Amino acid sequence: MGRKVALTSMTLTDQTDAKEHSLKRQLILRFLWVFSFTALLGIAATVAGYRYMANQAGSQNADNTSAHLTNHLKQMLHEWEDEASRLKAQIEFSRMVHGNDPKRFLKLRAFFTVQKGEVKSNDSNILLRRDGSLAFADGDENFELSAEHIHMLSADWYLSERRHVLYRVMRESIWLGDDGNGALLLLRPVENTTLISLAPPNVELTLWSNNQILASSHGSVGLMEQLQPHFSGPIHLGDKSIEQREILLDRSNPAMAHLIMRETINAPLSHAYLIINGLLLLGLTTLSLWLVLGRWVGSLTQRIVYLSQATRLFGNMHVMDTATRQLLDKALSHGDEISEVSASCRNMMANVVEYQAEHTAYVQTLDLLEEGVVEVDRSGNFIHASSGWHKLATCMENGCSSLYQCIHPEDTDALSKQILAIFSGEKSQAKGRVRLQPVGEDDSWLEFSFVAGTLGAEGLSSVRGVVRDITQSYQLEKRITHMALHDALTGLPNRVLLEDRCALSLSMAHRSGQKVAVGFIDVDHFKNVNDAFGHKTGDGLLIALANALKQSLRSEDSLSRWGGDEFIILLPGLSDIESVRQIAQKLLDTCAHAIRLDENEFNITFSMGFAIYPDDADNVDTLLSQSDRAMFHAKEQGRNNAQFFCDMTSKGLGKQDIYIQNRLSSAIKNRQIQAWFQPLVDAKTHRIIGVEALARWHDEESGWISPATFIPMAENLGLIRELGEQVWLETLRQGKRWREAGFSELKLAVNISRRQLFLPAFTETMLENLREFEIPSSSIILEITESVAVTDSEFTSKRLKELADAGFTLAIDDFGTGYSSLSQLHNMPIGKIKIDISFVRRVHEPQGAELIQAIIHMSEAFGLLSVAEGVEDENTAQVLREYGVHFLQGYFFGKPMPASEMDVYLAKTKSPFQDNAMTPTEHPYDLISKPAI
Ligand code: C2E
Ligand code: CA
Ligand code: CA
Repeated sequence: MGRKVALTSMTLTDQTDAKEHSLKRQLILRFLWVFSFTALLGIAATVAGYRYMANQAGSQNADNTSAHLTNHLKQMLHEWEDEASRLKAQIEFSRMVHGNDPKRFLKLRAFFTVQKGEVKSNDSNILLRRDGSLAFADGDENFELSAEHIHMLSADWYLSERRHVLYRVMRESIWLGDDGNGALLLLRPVENTTLISLAPPNVELTLWSNNQILASSHGSVGLMEQLQPHFSGPIHLGDKSIEQREILLDRSNPAMAHLIMRETINAPLSHAYLIINGLLLLGLTTLSLWLVLGRWVGSLTQRIVYLSQATRLFGNMHVMDTATRQLLDKALSHGDEISEVSASCRNMMANVVEYQAEHTAYVQTLDLLEEGVVEVDRSGNFIHASSGWHKLATCMENGCSSLYQCIHPEDTDALSKQILAIFSGEKSQAKGRVRLQPVGEDDSWLEFSFVAGTLGAEGLSSVRGVVRDITQSYQLEKRITHMALHDALTGLPNRVLLEDRCALSLSMAHRSGQKVAVGFIDVDHFKNVNDAFGHKTGDGLLIALANALKQSLRSEDSLSRWGGDEFIILLPGLSDIESVRQIAQKLLDTCAHAIRLDENEFNITFSMGFAIYPDDADNVDTLLSQSDRAMFHAKEQGRNNAQFFCDMTSKGLGKQDIYIQNRLSSAIKNRQIQAWFQPLVDAKTHRIIGVEALARWHDEESGWISPATFIPMAENLGLIRELGEQVWLETLRQGKRWREAGFSELKLAVNISRRQLFLPAFTETMLENLREFEIPSSSIILEITESVAVTDSEFTSKRLKELADAGFTLAIDDFGTGYSSLSQLHNMPIGKIKIDISFVRRVHEPQGAELIQAIIHMSEAFGLLSVAEGVEDENTAQVLREYGVHFLQGYFFGKPMPASEMDVYLAKTKSPFQDNAMTPTEHPYDLISKPAI
């Protein structure tokens, strides 16, 4: 491992060094660049500056030289004048030219010749008489001096055009004896030698006139051709630097001749010297720069390189190994900003390592789960799938890359729609069920829940979800749903499904203008069959009858079991009432043949009552109750016949029904409705834990009337409030007595019908009553029929929640007959379910047992307690106990009884909450008078 890391880090170093933009390389390149640039610029600036300064100095120098020369020239001219006066004095002193000696001018010539011989001069001497005429001329310029020439000699300078010589004219007045005062003119030429003597070293003097050089201090005159008079300033001739000045000889006649001075300016320092020194200086500066700055920047760079190597190493391996740590330590060595960055990096790496460990732990935990956890992109392709998913979806073994490939083709559309809705932001969560790609015959069902996943730069890039195999519970639920909608005995639709279909038919008929008939069928004297042959035969007969009836119906008609020996037929899409009459007759005809069952033959008849939509009623409830009344009427007519509600009303019939209705309201007013009580016992100990209050009505003429008859009537007539209140208050009254007698834990269960539940201030009124009787709401169980509880209305759930919040225990009555899936119940604030009597009846059949077990299983999963009603024998109680039912109720433990009998019952149990509770066999059945239901 160590070696591997070392190798990797070496490769990293190489990579960093080889990088085109590596800091080191950049640093060196920049240094080189700065060095070269400064070197070039420095040299150029030095040379230019130096040249400028040298020129300035040269020009200054030339000015000085020219001033000096001017002075020197003046001095020389003075000397010349002195010489001329000395000459004149000698001539006058020798009196050579006094008098009229004819040889006087010969003598004079000889004198001059001697003079010139001594000083080797090329001077010319002229003697003028007083009148200005020429008396004597000698020297090079011994031409015939015309009067004009003589005039020209009156100036200081005289230029001989012929000989190209410039003379200085020095004039002395001289005594000529008889001829009076004349003038002696000494013409001294300005020659090369003159200029040589004048010129200091480095200086060339040139006398110039009319494009001709008259004299020069340096002999050679080649350069002079390029000379410009009237110019002062620097001249560059090849590598020579020269300063030129003009010195004026004759101010009165500046054009006559020019004396040009040229001084060669010697450069004090050579360029090579300058460049070498400059470079040396630069080298030293660079060296010190490098030592002070470069090495520091170099070490910074190196630390940055370490940092970069460390991060890269970490990025590759995602572990904090020794190499990474060492590199980071090197980068950390100073307390500067790089150290801070390195420290932050180290913290970040530690966090990443920690996070990774956590992440790995999560992933490992995920892998333990039964549920599959997946992450997919917009097209359903897997980004991640936990091993739970691999276990679920066997298709993964065939290399499925997309979620949709694993799903049943019929479900993929729905799933992808849901997932895309999350991507589009339309939904935050998607939940549902889908099937897996079928492998065998049976479908595997999955429950999924997806939420938004990773958010990238361009929006959501994935969704994440949990997928669970729900095949078992799905199938169970499907069966329960079927059970919920169908009668367990005959397999016919039950009340719930019928009411649903009925409502649908009505709305369709409303649109099409057709009629719908509802027929209520009740088997005549069925109780006798039960009593004589037992329930089993009774059940067999009901099944046979159901089959026979079905034969006479059209395919669009429905036959359903209402309960017991009651059936309902629904005939939709009728044009007139006549067709109903025909169907009714056809049904009655089925009774013409005896039904064979286990060697016995049964001649069964039934009574039928019909109500028609829209003629007799415009809603399901009324239609059912009218057909019920018509059926009663058929019974009254001697049974085995069919009656129509419309005929009854037209004939003023159905008196019995109307009689009961009329009696009911007065019975309620006269407080003739009693509350009877039936014990609820603990399934394990059989000790009484509570009582259910049941309404009882004994009419003087009709005898005992079943609550199944008068409770719906009271609801329809708007009397339920008063009735319910009477039962409720009576229950509280008795409950208070029992509590005072020591049964303080006794639960009081009361039935709440649909209308009651919707009464205004229902909860508040009940709570007020409870306070009055000093009974806590926790002692009250409110039994609500399943179909009411699951009504999908906001009000129902609000009311139920309100009741639960007030402390009441809510129990779902007749559970299994309603159209509820358990998941629906899960969201409701209920505490108990009462398994319907029809299930308890079938507990000894394998299918029935299985269903009861399934219901108990699921209710336990939701944390609900279960009660089984209609327990009529010890065996049933035993079996239900084994299945895990918590509480039992039924004739085996006690029939509904008046409060006074309940007193005795309770007394016999002594205290229900002591261990010596009575065994079931001791129950005082004989004390109970059975109401004629
Ligand atoms: P329920 O709430 O399901 O009540 C249980 C019914 O089963 C009662 O019928 C009871 O007498 C009967 N029962 C109890 N144990 C056995 C048994 O072992 N075998 C048999 N075969 N039957 C048993 P009941 O009293 O005729 O009540 C019928 C329905 O009338 C009740 O059904 C309930 O929904 C309604 N009801 C009764 N009293 C009231 C009331 O005060 N208010 C309201 N709203 N409804 C009531
Ligand atoms: Ca009940
Ligand atoms: Ca019930």
